[in-house]
Amino acid sequence: MNIIGQVTVLPQLPDAIARLSELAYNLYWSWTPRAQALYQELDPSNWERFQHNPVRLLLEVPQQRLEAAAADADYLDRYRGVMADFDAYMGKKDTWISKNAAELAPVAYFSMEYAFHESLPIYSGGLGVLAGDHCKSASDLGLPFTAVGMLFHQGYFRQLFNKEGWQEEAYDELDLTTLPIKPALTPAGEEARVKVRIGERDVHLRVWSLTVGRIRVLLLDANVPENSEEDRRLTARLYGGNQELRIQQYVLLGVGGVRALRALDVPAQVYHMNEGHAAFLGLERVREAVETGLDFRTASEAVASSSLFTTHTPVPAGNDAFSYELMDRYLGKWPGLLNASREELYGLARHDQLWDGHWVPTFSMTVFALRMSRMANGVSELHGEVSRDMWKFLYEGAEAREVPIGHVTNGAHNLTFTSQAMRDLLSTVLPTDWTERLEDGEMWKGVEELSDAQLADVQLNMKREMISFVRGRLREQLTRNGATAAELAALGEVLSENALTIGFARRFATYKRATLLFRDKARLSRIVNDPQRPVQFVFAGKAHPADNPGKSFIQEIYRVSQEPEFRGKIVILENYDMNVARHLVQGVDIWLNNPRRPLEASGTSGMKASFNGSPNFSVLDGWWREGYDGTNGWPIGEEREYADLNVQDDADAYSLYQTLETQIVPLYYAPPQPDAEGRGGWRQTVRLTIETVSPRFSMQRQVIDYVRGYYLPLTRRGAAISANGAQRAREIAGWKSWVRQQWPHTTLTASANLPSTARPGQKVEVRATVNPAGIKPEELRVEAVLKRGDDITRVPLTAQGEGQYSAQVPLDGSGLYSVGVRMLPVIEGLSNDLEAGLIRWA
Ligand SMILES: *Cc1c(COP(=O)(O)O)cnc(C)c1O
Repeated sequence: MNIIGQVTVLPQLPDAIARLSELAYNLYWSWTPRAQALYQELDPSNWERFQHNPVRLLLEVPQQRLEAAAADADYLDRYRGVMADFDAYMGKKDTWISKNAAELAPVAYFSMEYAFHESLPIYSGGLGVLAGDHCKSASDLGLPFTAVGMLFHQGYFRQLFNKEGWQEEAYDELDLTTLPIKPALTPAGEEARVKVRIGERDVHLRVWSLTVGRIRVLLLDANVPENSEEDRRLTARLYGGNQELRIQQYVLLGVGGVRALRALDVPAQVYHMNEGHAAFLGLERVREAVETGLDFRTASEAVASSSLFTTHTPVPAGNDAFSYELMDRYLGKWPGLLNASREELYGLARHDQLWDGHWVPTFSMTVFALRMSRMANGVSELHGEVSRDMWKFLYEGAEAREVPIGHVTNGAHNLTFTSQAMRDLLSTVLPTDWTERLEDGEMWKGVEELSDAQLADVQLNMKREMISFVRGRLREQLTRNGATAAELAALGEVLSENALTIGFARRFATYKRATLLFRDKARLSRIVNDPQRPVQFVFAGKAHPADNPGKSFIQEIYRVSQEPEFRGKIVILENYDMNVARHLVQGVDIWLNNPRRPLEASGTSGMKASFNGSPNFSVLDGWWREGYDGTNGWPIGEEREYADLNVQDDADAYSLYQTLETQIVPLYYAPPQPDAEGRGGWRQTVRLTIETVSPRFSMQRQVIDYVRGYYLPLTRRGAAISANGAQRAREIAGWKSWVRQQWPHTTLTASANLPSTARPGQKVEVRATVNPAGIKPEELRVEAVLKRGDDITRVPLTAQGEGQYSAQVPLDGSGLYSVGVRMLPVIEGLSNDLEAGLIRWA
């Protein structure tokens, strides 16, 4: 026919279910399976096809289905129930924040990636899930909170395996009209646009608004007609390009993000940088402050005083750094905008690195973020320690333990990853408001009342769902790759609901050692093929498109999964995403993780499995080093690192097999052996897993830790420093400049009256002579430092006049003490002793 025009007829929601549309635009549904079910029922096959996206579903659902649902009393009942819960959630006044931290200032949270749901693929892995979960719990707890990120219109990538098991990447252009986002509107009601200068061009950004419960996420999008074709691609792909693309994306996120907040008049006083990607937000905030008349240093002082930086990367090379030349190209105008010299600005972020055999100064995003914040943290206890050690070179003269980087151990958003069946079961033994008190460890003791049979029943159902999901996914993959009818028929034999099932899924970064399990294949085969006590494995994960070693790991697993002795017992699924993650963490019996210590900064997938009663079996790295208590899962290897990686891998693989053979498999297959209270055996491990991990590694606990440990202190500090036209910022900045100038002229000599041996409790005299070069005595701390093993004690020396200092220093314990004397300039109001960056040792 000759087409003379086209028109789309949109389905109309009947009045009785009109609010399905409103709900579709609030990601509340993403952690509410009952809400999802309302959409799924309308059109189950499209629900799958559209990645469980309710907005898209409502755009294409047949009108008759809507009419039928609106006339179905049972459907209406459930609809009203979900809406009532939703309204109660949204309208709640007595939130955790209102009761515990009402003085908290509004927080702006910046992250390069967010994982909220599979239908919005703007994430690559754990970092994104963490950010998405953080937003969800910020909403649950009632924080004044706005998140800022990027709308990647081609997402990360969709992963496909070819016939050889090699990863291929597909990029789908997202249709923004079908996503649960809306253009963000300015107070005047106009669609927000912001402009960011990059090099010689102005790049325009559209701002989208995504609603997550009670909070908002602003997503920046350069794919607008005002931009050149090249600039429109700046926000096409997450982690897609080279350094040139990255630096520009970081400018858009940091600078564009702050401008978006301003354009929308969003209140923000505390700024949280989730990883160094966001560090350029500091540039824009300093520029704003300079524009109000502050000098560069005062402005930096004020900005840093209300900023928190969370680092995630425990290897130096993983931290983004740019050459000065690249900085000049894209950010060359910034020193001028900030009234700073190039040296002064770049110097703040300077990290000298060995590149191609030469030491070159680089602009490190992490260093910049550390300098542009007054609080910083790693994401587990061990990672905090590793980070302090890694960045201690920035604090010359300091001990690693003094480096001002703390830690908040990550958590996961319980409701996003816990199956509805498990939630229903938990509701039978936990208080009615349990979903609002997830961090309450006492409350979770109620789990002990669940019987073996109740758990077994729910877990078997979750496992069946997972197996059916796995078979469906393999069917798609095989069909696409031209499988024979016999191969497709064999899918019915893939995975058994009676076998102990172990899951392993995450990004295929090589340090995660996805193939460690195959170090001794003969032994593995005996474990897998034990006729009485079979074990099976499900793998999934994406390798970064440029990571060929990671892709080889995938291929190796794929090949093993094709070998006759492992066929149907070891499988690897394509396209790991939040949907696959939910199925696996809910359906497997055990969750496996074997990273190379200490490179797993935290890890979170094992927490999600534990919420569903699947114990974690992992190297004692990241969160598991804190979470494992001897009853709630199993460790792999020891708390140590070998210098030789090969030896390390052997030792860890050996430990893995050994624990599996001698502990896990026997426990899993043992007939129920109740102890005196009737609570022994496998299901007791399951109960303890749920009971101990759910509260401590809830995202709710994590966000509360951030509020108490960082957001509230920064609320106070930010206000104090900025009061009266930033008077305190000016004083501190002036003082720092002055002491830095005087410091080279100071001198310190010291002596200690040490016997060759001493008794515990004995005191020794330590003396020092100081030339303070004009620095006031009350602004100089002179102290003895005693080191014994890992213990450090600091004892202040008292001024005796004329630059003389002394103290009687007690030697409290026994052992070898090393004694030193040092001085540092301090004034009241610093965030920590190392802030001035000056330490002089005698
Ligand atoms: C939880 C999660 C991760 C993180 O897994 P780790 O094992 O902590 O690395 C990555 N990707 C997805 C989709 C997840 O849900």
